This record gives sequence, structure tokens and C-alpha cells, in this order.
Amino acid sequence: MLNYSVDADGIATLEWDYPGKSQNILNTASLDAYFTACAKAVADPAVKGILVCSAKKDFIAGGDLEMLLKADNAKEFHAGIVKSHHAMRALEKCGKPVAVALGGSALGGGLEVALGCHYRVAADNSKARYGFPEVTLGLLPGAGGTQRTPRLVGVMACAQMLTEGKRLKVSEAAKMGLINAVVPAGEERAAAKKWLLEQIAAGQPVLQPWDKKGYKIPGGGPSNPGIAQMMMAGNAMLREKTYNNYPAPKHIFSCLYEGLATDIDSGLAIEARYFTNLALSKVAKSMIRSLFFGMQDANKLSSRPAGVPEQKFTKIGMLGAGMMGAGIAMSTSTAGIEVVLLDTTQEAAEKGKAYAVAQWAKMVSKGRMTADAAAALAARIHPTADYAKLDGCELVIEAVFEKREIKADVTKKTEAVIAANAIFASNTSTLPITGLAEASVRPANFIGLHFFSPAEKMPLVEIIMGKATSDETLARSMDYVKAIGKTPIVVNDSRGFYTSRVFGTYVSEGMALLQEGVAPALIDKAGLMSGMPVGPLSLADEVAIDLIYKVAAQTKIDLGSAYVPRASDAVASLMVEKLKRLGRKSSAGFYDYPTDGPKHLWPGLAEHFPVKAEQPSVESIIERLIMVQSVETVRCLEENVLRAPIDADIGAILGWGYPPFRGGPLGTLHSLGIKQAVADCDRLAATNGPRFATPKRLREMAEKGEKFFPV
Ligand code: NAD
Repeated sequence: MLNYSVDADGIATLEWDYPGKSQNILNTASLDAYFTACAKAVADPAVKGILVCSAKKDFIAGGDLEMLLKADNAKEFHAGIVKSHHAMRALEKCGKPVAVALGGSALGGGLEVALGCHYRVAADNSKARYGFPEVTLGLLPGAGGTQRTPRLVGVMACAQMLTEGKRLKVSEAAKMGLINAVVPAGEERAAAKKWLLEQIAAGQPVLQPWDKKGYKIPGGGPSNPGIAQMMMAGNAMLREKTYNNYPAPKHIFSCLYEGLATDIDSGLAIEARYFTNLALSKVAKSMIRSLFFGMQDANKLSSRPAGVPEQKFTKIGMLGAGMMGAGIAMSTSTAGIEVVLLDTTQEAAEKGKAYAVAQWAKMVSKGRMTADAAAALAARIHPTADYAKLDGCELVIEAVFEKREIKADVTKKTEAVIAANAIFASNTSTLPITGLAEASVRPANFIGLHFFSPAEKMPLVEIIMGKATSDETLARSMDYVKAIGKTPIVVNDSRGFYTSRVFGTYVSEGMALLQEGVAPALIDKAGLMSGMPVGPLSLADEVAIDLIYKVAAQTKIDLGSAYVPRASDAVASLMVEKLKRLGRKSSAGFYDYPTDGPKHLWPGLAEHFPVKAEQPSVESIIERLIMVQSVETVRCLEENVLRAPIDADIGAILGWGYPPFRGGPLGTLHSLGIKQAVADCDRLAATNGPRFATPKRLREMAEKGEKFFPV
């Protein structure tokens, strides 16, 4: 855990070395070991100076999130934090010089341990990052980070870093004053020791700046008018951006404002209370579960079928060089894989490549990529109209027009060329995979790889298993998704799969509210206040109202009498058939899109959807917009469309921007408690209709006391 040694110069070395992990992490055990070693070094008269360092390439990666996820006793948790604060204070006030040698990254609690030392020397390591990512998981730096950082570098310099979780390079951290010296990699321990020996030789007790007489916060404290104004503006901007859904950045501002108005010990006491409040909050637990553990498992391909050797991809085929094809080709080439980009004509294929080249040229012009790197990426994309060029592709993905016949045709032509074990994937957004696989002579190798637009940027791929898709095809497809740096979720075949189906309920509910006479501005504002990135009516305009209309029409044809009409159907019909308002693409939808100004709600809406005198509360609208997604998600689980609860939450956050503070559509129910969720669904179904009807699965879970997630 922690290696302790004392050398002939009286320097005690405290070397962090967390067993069995590639990174050092902070938890009760590792902190106990550290503080015990600190106390030993402080008490030993033979020890004149203390050198803190790491046996691993990085210093400390941060707090133990598993421990934080499980923490449920506020009193115990708070006591543990206060104990750490006292131990760190004892070290910095011990009088002996304490230096830390940072070979690599120091993040979160790791940086806080470093700030608890008098002097920080870092290796000139381009991979190292320094910062406080806590806020991105609903937390705050609770080991003194909100107090020592501003006292060291000033509030102005660090407020953004603390409230946004920005990670700094070593040069940036040094410039800000977080690091005292940067030395060539490998020399950091020697440099730290040199400083210690100088302090010992000087013979004066070494103190932190804030423990020295006459100390003043660099740039001033909260009573300074400039700082006060920045805090007010920062708080207002935060509220505008987050609608108070994220308590962490707000609490960080409070720690700065309240903590800096007093001495460091009182400031730490203030931080400990806010940290305890956050660490035990549902928001932090939801974010840690989905954004950290869920994402980590998905990216590690934890659900990949076992026993299939990992597939390395060298060449893939991309059918259709349109918007999606070009984007997927970009991501694939970026991963070092050759791409044969095929369209109906050479010109059409070239056009797709030209899109990719233009995107990379933009990055070159912004200094984010070198011209050579851009040229190498472009050289891996081979536009063609000739199917023979697909020979040797380990995987071919089609993103041609959304028409069954065209997709069947390209499947047949491709399978005539590619190897028997190659995978054929469809990027269809609406057509069931099992039906498309009927055109394939090897349906076991046929799978859905559903990308999101813009494909070169969006991080999620929804992998869809057809009835005949083999586990081997799934495993190898997951290898491809990982290779191109995207996150996969795996679902079983069904209409709309998972993401389009559930995302559609949000848009549809917004349209239902409009139909009921709710003011459109209130509907879209409630959408934003719920944490969704865009209001449902705006979103309908972006997606295109005629697309919503066409998908509903096709579903009606396919399902016949089994089709359950949705409230949005009537709204979409009116908008498309009668009013010819198709959405943003026709500059006319629920909004008007003037060429010379910002979009605004179409005044004609009032005539077709009269606003009723009594409006529902914004909370009740938010509840409907959020719960409608949760109920549909449970149905997806019940119908075995979803294979695992966590896939639902990750797919929602990455696929359609579901608010991370809720954890995901299932995270929302988990936070409510399943019993409460059942009661809420029953109430909503009684007032708004069967789309809110409590799924059987949820009721059974409530009866049996089951949960979607252990914590
Ligand atoms: P698009 O119209 O931009 O591109 C389609 C491309 O396919 C065109 O370049 C066209 O020339 C080409 N094409 C048509 N028939 C062909 C054939 N027989 N052989 C080779 N190329 C052919 O469409 P898009 O938005 O890129 O969508 C493509 C597919 O991806 C569709 O199935 C769509 O449902 C799906 N998808 C789209 C989105 C999205 O947001 N646009 C998201 C996910 C999935």
C-alpha cells in the first residue's frame, strides 16, 4: 500500500503503491496507511524532511468510487472526511518540509494529497493530467481541494477548473501555480529531495502559504468586489445552463464563497459538509453508476460473448457514402482501418470522402491535427462504385437509403464478394434486422450496427441482434466498435430497437401536451428544465415532423389492427398533411426559422392548438416527459429488447442526451424507489392514458423488493 524508508540524509520517502491495481486510489485503507506513515515520519526525530511519491507511473488517480457509491451513512462518512482533513493539516503544520514528486497524473484526491504538501515537482510528461474531475460525477474535491487550490492560485484562476472538471497539462498546471517546478521525466524525485535538503539547511520551519502570518488569498477573497461579481455571474450562468439539476458545481461555488471568507480550518469544515451532502446524494450515485462504472463495463466489452478470439480489423467496406456512411468511414479511418467507401457512382463515393477530407482540413486549420495526419487518414478511404473492391473486407456496413429492396440488393451484391466469415452489418434506423437478414445467405453473420448522427462524433453504437445473429458475430462486431473508440450497447431486434423507440416517446409526449392545450413555450422549457438537451417540439422540428409521420404510417401498415395510436399521430398528420410544416428542413415546423434572425415559435400554432386557460405545473410536465421514457424502457426490458438495465441508461445518455444526473431512464426509477415508481405510473396512467400503465415487470419488482441496480 505504502512503502516507507528513511535515507542517510534524514529524508523519509513515502511511496504510494496500491496493491493489485495499475493506479493508486484513495480509500479508507490507503489513506490510513498514508496518514500513519506521515505521523511516523513527523514523530521520528531522525526524519528531517518528507518525500511523497508513487511507485506507479501516475501519482494517484483519485478516490475509490466503489466506496463512494456504497457510502450510505452520512455521520460515518462525514467523520471519515474530517479525520482526513485533520491528518492533512497535521502534516502541513508539522514544521518539517514535505515535497511531492509527481511522475504522472494527479487527479481528484490525488491532486489534493499533493496540495497538502509544501512543494510539488512534476515530471515533464505530456501524458500527465492535473485536475479535479469530481464535478463530472456529481461530487466535489472533498479532501481540501476547494480550499487549498484557491488559497494557492486565487479564486479567479481555479473556479472554472473546479466547477467544470477541466484536466490540465503539466505546463498549464505549472503556469497556474499548482505545481512549483517541472523537471525532465525521471528527475522529479531528485529535484524534490534537493528542495527538501535546501529547506533543512535553511533551518526554518516550513509552512503552507495560508499558515504564514499576514497571508492573503491571491487576487482577494469573496469580499473583493471583482471576485464577488465573478461568483454572482458564475452562479447565474450555472443556473441558466443546468436549471439547478446539478448540485455539485453549486456546492463548489458555496465552498469557495463561504470557505474563503474564513480561515482554512473553518473552510475545510464547510467543505466536509457540502462533500458529505453530495456524496450521499442520488445524483452523485446515479452519475457514478452510469457514467463511471456502466461506461467502464461497456467500454471493456464486459457483455462480449466469451470464447471468441478477438478480431483485429484491417479493412472494412462502407456501402453508401451519404451523411452516415461518410461519418462512419471517418471514425474507422481514424482507428487506422482501411475503408472501401462504395456508392452508386464513383462521384457519389468521392463526395462522401470529400466530406471527411473537409472535416479533417478544418481540424488542421484549427491546429488540432497536422496536415500529414489528415493526409494519412484520407489515404485510408478508398471511394469506389465497384463491388469487387470489397474483397478482403472483414466487415461491411451498409448505410444506403432506408428502403428494404435497396438494402436487400446491396446485401446480395456484397455477399457475392466477401469471405464466408465476414460480417455484414446494417445501419438501418427503423427496419427490423431479422427481416433485412432474409436477403442474406448467412444470417448468422448479419447484425445491426446503429450509429447516431453525426456518426464521426457521436459515441454510441446500438448493436442489434437479429433472430439468427450468432454470438460470434456479436463478439467480433463489439471488437470493431471498441476499435473505433465508440461505446456499444447490445439489444435484441424489435421495431425502433431501443433508442429510437424510447427517444420517440419524449417527442411524442411533447406533441400530446400540445394537443391538450399546453402552451408550446412551456412544453419546450419544461423539456430543458428536465435536463434534456432540447425541448420536445424543437426536437420534432430537428428530426423532421414528416419523418415522425412516415414512421408512424409504416408502423400502422406493418402492425395492422395491433397498432396503438399515439397522441402525436394527430398532431403530426395535421402538421404534415394540412399545414405542410415539416420541421427545420422546410424552415417551418413548430417553429419558424427566419433567415435573418433566431428561430421562434410559429404564431399559427395558437390557432390549431388553442392554449387552455389553466396550465399544468412545470413539475407535472417534467414528470410526464421523463416518466414516459422510463415506462417504455421497462417495457423494452420486459420484452427482452434490452438485455441489461445498464445498457438502457448508457444508451439513453450517449444516444439522445438523456440527463446524466438522473442516471438514465431506469436510474430515474431506481432513484424514486420501485414502489414509488409503481404508484407514480398508476397515477399517471389514470390521468393521461395507458402509455403510462405500470409494466408488469415493475409491479413484480415492487412486490418482490427487487431493484434494477444493487446501489
Ligand atoms: P443519405 O441519403 O445521406 O445517404 C445514403 C447514401 O446511400 C447516398 O449517398 C446514396 O447515393 C447511397 N445509396 C443509395 N442506394 C445505394 C446503393 N444501391 N448502393 C450504394 N449506395 C447507395 O442517408 P443517411 O442519412 O446517411 O442514412 C443512411 C442509412 O443510415 C439509412 O438506413 C438511415 O436510416 C440510417 N441512419 C440514419 C441516421 C441519420 O440520422 N441520418 C441515423 C442512424 C441511421
